[in-house]
Amino acid sequence: MSEVCAELHRIVRTGKLHRVPFDARALPKNGIYVLFERGEVCHDGPRIVRVGTHTGDDQLPSRMQQHFVKENKDRSIFRKNIGRALLNRESDPYLAEWEKDRTSRAQRQRFGLEPDPVKRREVEASVTAYMREHFSFVVFSAEVAAERLSLESKLISTVSRCGACGPSDRWLGRSSPKEKIRSSGLWLVNELGKVPLDAADLGRLSELLVDR
Ligand SMILES: [Zn+2]
Repeated sequence: MSEVCAELHRIVRTGKLHRVPFDARALPKNGIYVLFERGEVCHDGPRIVRVGTHTGDDQLPSRMQQHFVKENKDRSIFRKNIGRALLNRESDPYLAEWEKDRTSRAQRQRFGLEPDPVKRREVEASVTAYMREHFSFVVFSAEVAAERLSLESKLISTVSRCGACGPSDRWLGRSSPKEKIRSSGLWLVNELGKVPLDAADLGRLSELLVDR
């Protein structure tokens, strides 16, 4: 597994690197993103710490804005997980509120009004600041949803099953309350340890990589 994972990392590192903030117009409308995080390394270079895609057509730019720009944890599980780790690291009791999603009317009735909207905005801003400082990403252009989802799952499985890729001692995810994040070294809880990429998939990813 680690040889396939090493080859995957070699391919991804030749892609055009986007930093945060990024130009949404420079992204393909459909695709898969692969994230690197400052301080995280494996296979002699930056380590993949998250892979993601989108289901609906033409949603890649808006998905990336939901993660990195729009300050609403309930529209991005990635933001929610960064916030969880930041709060948990500080043993901040606001973590219990951060867990509550008040997007729907039913949920607002269940949880009541946001008790501390100022605090929530502060945490959202901390998440954005962490992201801007630590993350960069590369994208694969993939028009067909079924292919995006299949490759996303295989990418995640390849990295999660690799014995050579693991988190640094200082990785923020070690403070996550989510065991799957802590143990996988990835900002992910799904598609871990399933079917990995094969040689044909690696060839296809080389074709789909956006490198300029
Ligand atoms: Zn690896």
